[in-house]
Amino acid sequence: MEPFLGASSTISVLKLLPGNCSLCLQPISSQEHCLCGLCISKLPWLKTQCRQCANPLKSNNLCAECQQKPPSYRRCVAAFEYQKDSIDKLIMNIKTNSHSPETAQLSSLLSEVITLAYQDSSMPTIMVPVPLHWRKLLIRGFNQSSNIASILSRKLNNTAILDNICIRRASSSPQHLKSRKNRIQGMGNAFRMHKNIDYKSDNKNNCTNNPIVGQSVAIVDDVVTSGATAESLASTLIRAGAKNVDIWCIARTGWHNRFD
Ligand SMILES: [Zn+2]
Ligand SMILES: [Zn+2]
Repeated sequence: MEPFLGASSTISVLKLLPGNCSLCLQPISSQEHCLCGLCISKLPWLKTQCRQCANPLKSNNLCAECQQKPPSYRRCVAAFEYQKDSIDKLIMNIKTNSHSPETAQLSSLLSEVITLAYQDSSMPTIMVPVPLHWRKLLIRGFNQSSNIASILSRKLNNTAILDNICIRRASSSPQHLKSRKNRIQGMGNAFRMHKNIDYKSDNKNNCTNNPIVGQSVAIVDDVVTSGATAESLASTLIRAGAKNVDIWCIARTGWHNRFD
């Protein structure tokens, strides 16, 4: 389809408005989205993966890590395999611009994957976006995982979002500078429940102010890399009384893209 070009004075304005595919620059009809159908079909959709952690595999089995030491979370649902020179640029926009059309587009595609993933099982009823450390939140001004959760909530029958029930502790050094082993060890104690949440790990049924007790919870993240962050947050939520915890993320990193 040829792009619509009106009077010359309006052309420069049109270029500033949404309406062109972020990747191929062809015009798109939906003002809500930023990718054309062809570019969506060419995205690195996660096809075969570990049944539990969604690690990209050649078939839908359990990966060696999940066989040896299963994670605390029940399953990870991811839409895409994280790849350089492809979806990484779209995800960078999600991290740098709170109102990026990529957030709406990729979250909407993730919601379709989530709906399919729970065809034969009940879907979590509460979402917990992965919290940023307060200092990072102050610098960035927004939490991209909360933005993703907001769009998922609209697409998934208003699934509840609990944004501030967990606190992220300070990290002594940047995660990407650590080896994978150190990342996992270092993340072991990365989160705690908010002080206003009754948190009695040995007496869960007596929690009077704890909305996740006995609930099925989904952690929302943009990218799951080693799984260490997801595992740490999942085990915190389970200790605080969640019945089970799943992970929902836009993209999952394969072995070859990890930081080790
Ligand atoms: Zn396109
Ligand atoms: Zn696995």
